[in-house]
Amino acid sequence: MSTDSKKAAVPLVDLKPQVAALKGEIASALQRVLDAGIFVLGPEVEAFERDFAAFCGARHAVGVSSGTDALHLALLAAGVGPGDEVITVPFTFIATVAAVEYAGARPVLVDVDTDSYTMDVAQIEARITAKTKAILPVHLYGQSADMDPINDLARRHGLVVIEDASQAHGARYKGRRTGSLGHLGCFSFYPTKNLGAYGEAGAIVTNDDDYARTLRMLRDWGQEGKYNHVLRGYNYRMEALQGAVLGVKLRHLDRWTAERRRLAARYNEMLAGLPVELPRELPEREHVYHIYALRVRERERLRQRLAAAGVSTAVHYPEPAHLILPYRDLGYAEGTFPVSERSATEQLSLPLFPELTDAQQQHVAAALRSALG
Ligand SMILES: *Cc1c(COP(=O)(O)O)cnc(C)c1O
Repeated sequence: MSTDSKKAAVPLVDLKPQVAALKGEIASALQRVLDAGIFVLGPEVEAFERDFAAFCGARHAVGVSSGTDALHLALLAAGVGPGDEVITVPFTFIATVAAVEYAGARPVLVDVDTDSYTMDVAQIEARITAKTKAILPVHLYGQSADMDPINDLARRHGLVVIEDASQAHGARYKGRRTGSLGHLGCFSFYPTKNLGAYGEAGAIVTNDDDYARTLRMLRDWGQEGKYNHVLRGYNYRMEALQGAVLGVKLRHLDRWTAERRRLAARYNEMLAGLPVELPRELPEREHVYHIYALRVRERERLRQRLAAAGVSTAVHYPEPAHLILPYRDLGYAEGTFPVSERSATEQLSLPLFPELTDAQQQHVAAALRSALG
């Protein structure tokens, strides 16, 4: 690679500019934790929980140790256990499906729709059985699933709705923020997510006081007060350092989301007319562009050409859950979920993060134009 194209290299995500921009604010937050000497849960986590609940428009947020743990505990709080079925999607990060199995239940899959890559609501009702306990839609790439019909079905069949909002911090559906749309909303704060910790962290959001109380016990060995073990629980507590970092970063999230949306709109303009399908933003669903997802034929050839031009891309995800080797025993043959399967072959993620410069973005667009030309 020539020095020129190295200089032009555009990473898929680069966390360093944001770390640099927040250096002072983060340093003082971290120092507060060190001075207080409280490293697990405690006042920094509580303050973040209050702020994040308010941000989502929900009564409670419960900080935990990852997005996966958030899903696991939300399912347990909803009463999901062995013998139960949970309806979710194959086109997601594997953690969604794995969490259902953590709870001892069986994941029952339905395909996603072509426009939003989220749960195809027309397919849900046929999959509901006497064993169904919950519906677990995923707000993939930063756009909400179609929550009204999902909530209606759940109400009619007495099911719990658990959102996997790990990619959709602050995204809106009919004006309301994800996480507050179902009974329980799960978030990951993995470092590359739209709101990311400096390590592992997650949260569950809910309007229900009983769920919140159960979740607080479950994440801390089932205790309500020291050694008062009410339930069998887990060590899924959020660390104070992560709570302090997240508290600082939450204050910037709306600005970063606006920047992601501006960059996505700019990609849409720059890529118009190319033989690729651009991401669709559906009415009344405000996309927060965790991922800017194209659909393209001959994806691998395009990826190689882009890589040669110094443009990093990714695929989210190369295999739907039912075709991932260790999950083949979910029992769904190839061909069962055509939209998920086609998306897995055609989807391509372009570099997108709030600090992506206009020059970097122009380089990506020019590289795509010449690769497809
Ligand atoms: C990141 C992610 C998770 C898992 O979160 P972790 O914090 O990595 O455990 C779950 N579901 C989806 C859709 C995700 O993107």
